[in-house]
Amino acid sequence: MPSTIRTTTLPSGEALPVLGQGTWRMGEDFSRHADEVNALKLGLDLGMTLIDTAEMYASGGAEEVVADAIAGRRDEVFLVSKVLPSNASRIGVPAACDRSLRHLRTDRIDLYLLHWPGSLPLAETVEAFDALKKAGKIRHWGVSNFDTHEMEELVSLPAGDSVQTNQILYNLSQRGPEFDLAPWSRQRGIPLMAYSPVDQGVLARNTTLEAIAARHNATAAQIALAWVMAQPGVIAIPKAGKQEHVRQNVAASDIELTPDDFADIDRAFPPPTRKRGLQMI
Ligand code: NAP
Repeated sequence: MPSTIRTTTLPSGEALPVLGQGTWRMGEDFSRHADEVNALKLGLDLGMTLIDTAEMYASGGAEEVVADAIAGRRDEVFLVSKVLPSNASRIGVPAACDRSLRHLRTDRIDLYLLHWPGSLPLAETVEAFDALKKAGKIRHWGVSNFDTHEMEELVSLPAGDSVQTNQILYNLSQRGPEFDLAPWSRQRGIPLMAYSPVDQGVLARNTTLEAIAARHNATAAQIALAWVMAQPGVIAIPKAGKQEHVRQNVAASDIELTPDDFADIDRAFPPPTRKRGLQMI
């Protein structure tokens, strides 16, 4: 049974579930291929219809895992992929997009992101994204690992305000974006996509989160995810290769944290009191 995961709205007006599936480290080892495909398929069955991947992951190998997971059900999926900054030129973007479409075995990417800010002119990347939209190869575009000043620069460019999301490192161990990037994004109605929402598994072993989890008959990882999903305009994209983790992650969307939970979390993971540059991994 698909779960009813809450949605948030893109600037385009399209609603997106606040919980999706990451794919970093998938496609690296063929002996895990079937497990990875089945984990993603289970996630789709349970309502996690947003899948995040990138040309960088296993050099297209993760996109090929995704292709197998979405085969025969493309229309159910909101597909996110990313172009490397070194490919983000007028000629490089369409070539990278065609490669990704081949790996993904589809005719369109729903949301195409610049993986991180690079040295090529941003205006050129935006122009190339716009051309891909017109060609129907991508439906929307966005960015990743952009700090506030970089978002300011982006939205000041012609067509720069068509940006649909900024995918960033955001979890309980990394609350820096709450100082200015999150309020800036919220004010403009641009959702943040929180990557590494369980800090690559580290938060699954946190004792404060375990204590809160006991009150909800849940796990520490689920509390970490529930907290990310409770932030307005934020989409969490945990990666889970294990089916048990997939089930737990979907179930986290039903957890309602209490004011006591939030207070305990703030004591263990204090919110930022000053600007810190955006971190990335
Ligand atoms: P993550 O999702 O925070 O953590 C993934 C790890 O947590 C895996 O080892 C996974 O184990 C484990 N896990 C997942 N659910 C769990 C649960 N319920 N209980 C316990 N452990 C659990 O880290 P991430 O993969 O770095 O980030 C998520 C996605 O964000 C990536 O896959 C990628 O799509 C995207 N990302 C984007 C960028 C960027 O620069 N834009 C950077 C990093 C990541 P199993 O796999 O064994 O189930």
